[in-house]
Amino acid sequence: MRSLSDKVSGIAASATIEISNRARQMQREGLDVISLSIGEPDFDTPQHIKEACIAALQRGETHYAPSNGIPELISAVAEKIQSENKFPCRPEQVIITCGAKSAIYEAVEAIINTGEEVIILDPSWVSYEPIVRIAEGRPVHHQLDNKTFQVDEMLQDRISQRTKMIVINSPSNPSGAVLEKKSLNLVADLCEDYDLFAISDEIYEKLTYGKEHVSLASLGDMAERTVTVNGFSKAYAMTGWRLGYAIGPEEIIREMSKVQQHSVSHPTTFAMFGGVAALSGDQSCVDVMRKEFQRRRDYLVQEMMLMGFEVAPADGAFYAFVKVEGDDIDTARTWLEEGLVAVTPGSAFNTPGWERISYAASLDKLNEAVARIRKCQRIT
Ligand code: PMP
Repeated sequence: MRSLSDKVSGIAASATIEISNRARQMQREGLDVISLSIGEPDFDTPQHIKEACIAALQRGETHYAPSNGIPELISAVAEKIQSENKFPCRPEQVIITCGAKSAIYEAVEAIINTGEEVIILDPSWVSYEPIVRIAEGRPVHHQLDNKTFQVDEMLQDRISQRTKMIVINSPSNPSGAVLEKKSLNLVADLCEDYDLFAISDEIYEKLTYGKEHVSLASLGDMAERTVTVNGFSKAYAMTGWRLGYAIGPEEIIREMSKVQQHSVSHPTTFAMFGGVAALSGDQSCVDVMRKEFQRRRDYLVQEMMLMGFEVAPADGAFYAFVKVEGDDIDTARTWLEEGLVAVTPGSAFNTPGWERISYAASLDKLNEAVARIRKCQRIT
C-alpha cells in the first residue's frame, strides 16, 4: 500500500490509550478494575431532556436541518450567553456543533494557516495539540505554574511573529483549576497587544466549587477576537449526544460553518431539540449533579492529601490532579496492575509527574479506590 498522510501519521496516539486499553482488557478478563480515568459524568441525561428528544423524533424531526443548527437552539444559546456569560451575542454569532470538540476543530481550521502558531497552556486537554496539527498549525506549549495553575507574565515569552491564537480552558481538564480574573486579564491584554485570536473552552463552566467562572469574551473587547466553546456533555450529562456550540465574531462563525457544512453537515436534528430543553428547562438538575461532584471532590482531595500527595487546586471540573514521585506512567501502571485502579498519567496532558483522577464515580467506588491506592503506596 502507498504511504498514507504524513500529517495524520505524525500525530501520536494518546499516552492514555495504552493504560485505558489495558484497563479494559483486565475488565474483560473479569478483574474488578475501578476506572477513574473517565472524562464523562456517571449520571444519566435528565429525563425532561430525553423526553424533548423523543417527542422531536416522534414529530418527524428526522430530516436535514440548517447547517448552523435549528433556530430554537441558536436563540436559546444566544440568550444564555447574554444573561449568564455577560457578552453580546446575536444569532449570527452562534453555531451548534457535534460536541465542543467539533467546535474547537472548526474554529482552528477557520483561523489557522499552515505554520501559524497556537499557544496551548499546559497541562492541556489531550485534543488541542492534535487539532492544531491537523490544521497544519504549530502548537507552542506554555507550562502553567504548578502550584496555582494560573497564567503568569511568562506567557508573553511564547509569543512570536507567527503567533495567531491562544487556547484557554477554564475550569481546566485536567488540573481542575479555574482561571481567575487576573489570569484572564493577562491573556486578554496579550491578545489585544499582539492582535491574537483566542479560543476559550468553557465546557466545565457549570462545575465550579466556590469559585466564579468568568468568560474571556466578557472582558474588554475580547468578544471581537474570541471563540467561546461550550456544550452539553458535562453540564447535562449528554456526552453521547454529541452536541456543543461556539460563539464568536460573525466572520469566524461563517468560516466555521463552511467546515461544518462540508464535513458533518450539522448535529443530529432530534438531538438539537434535547439541547433546547436542556438550556431552556429547569436548571435544578445541573445543581444536583454539581453538589454531588463537590461531595466527591471534597472526599477524594482530602484522602489524597492525607496520603501525602500534593493536589492541584480542585476548584472545578471533576478531576483531582495529583503530584506523584517518579514516573507518572509507571505509577499509573502500578496502580492499575497492583491496585486495579485506572487513572490517567499527566504525560497525556503534557505534564509528566502527575496523575489525573476523575471523580465522576460514586463515593463507594472512590472509597474503595482510595483504599487500593493506599495499599499500592504501602500506606497503612
Ligand atoms: N474540552 C474539554 C476540556 C473536554 O474535557 C472535553 C471532553 N472530554 C471536550 C472539550 C469535548 O467535549 P464534547 O463531548 O462536547 O465534544
